[in-house]
Amino acid sequence: MRIIEDKLIREINEKTDIVQLVSEYIELEKAGKNYKGLCPFHDDTNPSFSVSPEKNIAMCMTCKEGGQPITFLRKIKNISFNEAALELASRAGIEVKGVDVKKDPNEKFYLLMHDASIFYQYNLKNSEGGEKALDYLSKREVRGELIDHFQIGYATRGDALYRMLKDKGYAVSDMIALGLVKQGDDGKYYDLFADRVIFPITDPKGHVVGFSGRTLSAKDRAKYINSPETVIFKKGLLLYHFHEALSEIRKNGQVVLYEGFFDVISSYVAGIRHGIATMGTALTKNQARLIKSVTDSIVIAYDGDDAGLKATDQAITMLDQAKLRTEVLEIPEKMDPDDFIKAYGPEVYEARFGEHTKDGYAFRYGYYKHESDLDNANDRKTFRDRVQKMIRYADLSVRDFYRKKLARDLNLDVEDIAVSRKPREIPPKKTVQKGVVNRYIKAELYVILMMIHSKDTALSVQKKLKTTDYADHIAAALRMRIESFYVKHDTFDEEAFIKTLGEEERTYFEEKVKQNTFYRWTQDTDESEVDGYVETIKQANMKRRIDYLNKKIREDPDHAEGYVKERDVLRGEIKK
Ligand SMILES: [Zn+2]
Repeated sequence: MRIIEDKLIREINEKTDIVQLVSEYIELEKAGKNYKGLCPFHDDTNPSFSVSPEKNIAMCMTCKEGGQPITFLRKIKNISFNEAALELASRAGIEVKGVDVKKDPNEKFYLLMHDASIFYQYNLKNSEGGEKALDYLSKREVRGELIDHFQIGYATRGDALYRMLKDKGYAVSDMIALGLVKQGDDGKYYDLFADRVIFPITDPKGHVVGFSGRTLSAKDRAKYINSPETVIFKKGLLLYHFHEALSEIRKNGQVVLYEGFFDVISSYVAGIRHGIATMGTALTKNQARLIKSVTDSIVIAYDGDDAGLKATDQAITMLDQAKLRTEVLEIPEKMDPDDFIKAYGPEVYEARFGEHTKDGYAFRYGYYKHESDLDNANDRKTFRDRVQKMIRYADLSVRDFYRKKLARDLNLDVEDIAVSRKPREIPPKKTVQKGVVNRYIKAELYVILMMIHSKDTALSVQKKLKTTDYADHIAAALRMRIESFYVKHDTFDEEAFIKTLGEEERTYFEEKVKQNTFYRWTQDTDESEVDGYVETIKQANMKRRIDYLNKKIREDPDHAEGYVKERDVLRGEIKK
C-alpha cells in the first residue's frame, strides 16, 4: 500500500468531527471549551480523556495516548494508519487516489457470516426454541447485556438459515464452504447448527468468521460443535473474544488467557473483562504473537486438572518465546474457572488474581516437582533436566535462584547444577526442504482446482505448462483428464468427469481436490494467481532437473559436457 500524502492526511483530519468520532467509543461531557470522558486506553476512574474540537485533538492527560482523528481511530480499533485514514476519508466523502484500497478477497464471506450471526441472534429472542435457549443461558447467569456483548444466538432445527441466506442472494456453495449448510441424502439443504445456542467467533478485526454451538438436547452426543476450518476460520490464528476485549486489555495492560469460551463469559460476569480463549487447541506461535501485539503481560487461567496443567506448561513456552511476561492463576481442586466462579462466587474469584498467581518459572518448577517422585532415580533425572531446560535462557538472577532451589531439592551442591547457555536450536535443514516440496505440490493442486473452476484457465494452463512439469505423476494425469474433458464440455460436471478417471486419479480427486475449500469456490479466477503457481511448478521442475544433472556430472565428469551445458542453461533461466 502506498503512503497517503501529508496534504490529504491533513484534509481527512480536518474534515472529521473529533467529538463525534470519540463519542462513538466513550461517553463525553462538556467541560468549558472542551469535552471530557474516561480514558479508553488506561484504567481511568477520574475522567482524564480530553477532546478539543478547536485543536481537533483527543488525548489523555494521564497516559498521553490519543491524537488527531486518524491516530485516535487507529489506536482504538487497533488497525493500521492507512486503514484508519481510508475509513475516515470515506466517511468524509474524500476520494483517496493512488492508494489501492485492496479489497479483502474474503469480504463476501464476512458479509454472509455477519448476516448469519444477526439471524441467530434474532432467533434467540423470536423463535420457539429460543425460549429454551434463553432459559439455559439464564441458568448459567448469562442474561441481558451479556447476551448482546457476546452476540449470543440460537440456531433452529431445519433449514431456516439456508432459506434466509438464499433469499438474500448468497451462493449455496459459499454457505457450504463456510460450514453453515450441508446437503442431506435427499438432496435438500439443511442448516448445520440445529437446536443449539450459538456463540459467534470473530477475527482480530471483528469479522464473524465462525460459530460454536452448544446443544440443548440431551440426545446430542456432541455438547459443542465448532465451524470446520474454512478459508476465514483458522483456529490456530484466532482467539475467542480478542477483538471484543481489546479496550479492556489496553486498560488493564494485561490479558487473561482461558481454555474455553465459557470461562471467558463467566469471568466477564465476575468482572474480569479482559479474557480471551483458545478453542480447544494448544496455544500456537501465531496466537502468542497476536497477544504480544497488544500487551506485554498475560495471566494464564487454564483448568486446574492434569490436562490443564500440562497445557499451561506448553503455553508458557510459547509465550516466553514471544517475550511476554507470564503469570499463572491457580485454580484449585481440578476445577475450571467457570466451575470455580459458580462454586465460590465472583468476589473470591477476582481476589485470586494477585493472591494466587505465580510467575511462569515458579509455576513450572512447582509443576515439574509435583510430577516427580524424588526417591525415584529416573524421576530425579527428569526433574533436573526439565528445570535446567527451563532456565537455560532466563535472566541470570532467575537462573541462579532456581539453581540453588534445585540443588536443595536434590541434595546436591549448587556447583553440580551446571546450566549451559546453548545457542537456541536451529531447525535441521530437512524442514526447510519439506517446505519447498509442499509449496510446489500445493501449486500443482491449486492449478488443478483452478482448471476445474474455469475452462478458460484450463486452456491457458495447457499452453503454459507441459505435463512433464508436474512432479506428482497422478496430479499430472488428472490435469490431462481435465483438458480432455473440456474438449467435449464447456462447463465442469463432477459426475461426468469422475467417470473418465482411473482409480489412482479418482482417489487423488476425491481426497485432495474435492476436500479442498477452493473446490466450492465461486469467485472469479485470478489469472495472475494461476501464473504464480505455474511459475512455481516450472521452477521446481527445473531444480529437480538440475539436481539430476549434477548427479550425472559427479558420476562421470569426463563425459559430462552435454550435462554441464544443459545445467548452465537451466541455472540461467531460474535466475531470470
Ligand atoms: Zn489514559
